[in-house]
Amino acid sequence: MSSGIDTLRLTAEEALALVDSGEVSSAELWQAYRDAINEHDGELHAFLTLVDEPEGNGIPIALKDVISTRGVRTTAASKILENYVPVFDATVAAKCRAAGMTLLGKTNTDEFAMGSSTENSAYGPTHNPWDLTRVPGGSGGGSAAAVSAGLAPWALGSDTGGSVKLPSAFCGNVGLRPTYGTVSRFGVVAFASSLDQVGPVTKNVRDNALLYRIISGRDENDSTTVDVPPVALPEGTDLKGLRIGLPRQLNEVEGIEPGVKAACEAALAKAEELGATVEECDLPLSVEYGLACYYLVAPAEASSNLARYDGVRYGLRSEGADFREMVMHTRHDGFGDEVKRRIMLGTYALSSGYYDAFYASAQKVRTVIKREHDALFERFDVLVSPTCATTAFPLGAKSQDPLAMYLTDVLTIPANMAGLPGLSIPCGLSEGLPVGLQIVGPQFSESTLYRLGHALEQAIGFDVVPERLR
Ligand code: GLN
Repeated sequence: MSSGIDTLRLTAEEALALVDSGEVSSAELWQAYRDAINEHDGELHAFLTLVDEPEGNGIPIALKDVISTRGVRTTAASKILENYVPVFDATVAAKCRAAGMTLLGKTNTDEFAMGSSTENSAYGPTHNPWDLTRVPGGSGGGSAAAVSAGLAPWALGSDTGGSVKLPSAFCGNVGLRPTYGTVSRFGVVAFASSLDQVGPVTKNVRDNALLYRIISGRDENDSTTVDVPPVALPEGTDLKGLRIGLPRQLNEVEGIEPGVKAACEAALAKAEELGATVEECDLPLSVEYGLACYYLVAPAEASSNLARYDGVRYGLRSEGADFREMVMHTRHDGFGDEVKRRIMLGTYALSSGYYDAFYASAQKVRTVIKREHDALFERFDVLVSPTCATTAFPLGAKSQDPLAMYLTDVLTIPANMAGLPGLSIPCGLSEGLPVGLQIVGPQFSESTLYRLGHALEQAIGFDVVPERLR
C-alpha cells in the first residue's frame, strides 16, 4: 500500500482507468502489486515464478503456470518441466501482451492441472487467503489466491473439470470456464484436449467480461477455436424474462453443507426479486454419470498428451543405460503420484481389449450428457447450482484419498463434459468462507451468464476482500 494503491480492492477496470488517465503509471501499478506479493506470498505461495521487470504499458496480470510465456519459466507445477523456458507465448499470453498487460508471474497449480486443491503441485501447496489452514481449491489455486489477496488485479486459469470455477468459489472470486472452443489452447500445457479451456479469474463480473473479450476468438494455431462476437459488458440489474432452471440433482447433491445451500437459496430469491423466474428441473444422467465419464475421458487424453515428456524434447532428463531406461527414469523422477495415477488409468482405459468398454462408452455417455442439457435449454436460459457442495476444506483433508478429491468436482464436471460455459460468482459466506454459485448456459451464452452474475453481484453485495485482510 506504499503507493496508496489498495490492491485488495482495486478492480482491473478501475486499474485500467487509473493508467489511462495518467493518474498512475503502468510501472507504479505493477510495483504496487509486486509489493503486495512480497508482503503476502510468503504465507500464500500463490506464485511459482515472479517476473522481475514490468514489460508493457497497461495493467498487470498473473498467469497460471500451464500457460507458456516467452522467456519466463513454465513448469505446470511439475518437476519434469522445472527448468523449461518457452521460446514462444501461448496465444492467450500473446493476447494479454498485445493488450499492453504486464506479467507479474506464473501461478501455482496442481501438477499438470490434475487436482482440486493445488496440493498436487511439486512445489508445495497454495494457501487460501480467507483461512491459511485451508486449500484455495484447484487446480488453479494460485491464480485464485493471488486475485483474492490483492496480489494481481486479475489472472488466467485453465479449466478441464472445474479448475477455474472451483478455486474461484473457494477464494471468493468470479471465474469463467468459457464455451469449449472460444479460447485458444495454443501454447497451453495440454491435459485433456477435448475439455481444456482457459478462463479469467477476477474480482467482479465486469472485469471477467473484459478479460474474456481479450482472450476469446478464433486462433489459426488451434483448430478447435471459433470466432465469437465480443461479449456484452453487463450493466444494470434487471432480470425480467430470464428463466432459471434449478437441477435438483445438483442442488440437492449428497453432502451439501447447509451454509452453502442457504447462500445459494438467498441468491436465487434475489434473482426472483429482480424479475427472473426460477423453477426446479432434472439432470439425472449427467450428474449420475458425469464424474465417472470424466475420469475415463480426462486420464485417457492425459496419458496420450503426457507421452511427449520423454527426456528428449522437454525439461528433465534422467540418465539410463539405454533409451528405454532413460525415459523410464525421467518419468519416474519427473512426474508426481497423481500424474502417474492418471497415466495408468488412461493407458488402461485405452488399451486394446478395453477401449470399447471404457473410452468409447464414455464418449457415448458424453453425448447423452450434452443432449440432457440441450433439452433443458429449451425451457431455461441458465441452470444454477452451487459450484461445490462445500466451502474450502483444510489442507491435507483429502490428499490421501484420491476418490474424495475427485468428488469435489461433481457439480462442475457435467457442464464441462457438454462443452458448456459456466460462471462461478461468490454468493455469500458459510461459516466465514466464500460460497460459489455456478451459472451454466448453452454454448456461447457468456453474455447471459454475465448478465445474471452482474445483477446478483449488485444485489448480494459480497465483499471480496478476505475478512482476515480487511
Ligand atoms: N479436479 C479435476 C481433475 O483433477 C479438474 C482439474 C482441472 O479442471 N484442470 O482432473
